[in-house]
Amino acid sequence: MEIRDILGNIRSDHVIHADCGPCKRSFRLDVAVLVERFGPDYPTLDALRKVVCKECGGKLTTMRAYDSKIKVGW
Ligand SMILES: [Zn+2]
Repeated sequence: MEIRDILGNIRSDHVIHADCGPCKRSFRLDVAVLVERFGPDYPTLDALRKVVCKECGGKLTTMRAYDSKIKVGW
């Protein structure tokens, strides 16, 4: 069964990191905010392509990860 890569299919323990080349800032994108902005049926890759740095407006390099791999509570 094919799983469509849309915003509504991103699991709640899935986070998206974004790095801005021009200003070297790193962000963590909130999936809920993406869904609110683009809608749950919007293709994830297309949504990530449209996200720009909130500081300089530059193009972001995005990377997906699972929350369980992020160290917390240390
Ligand atoms: Zn930037």
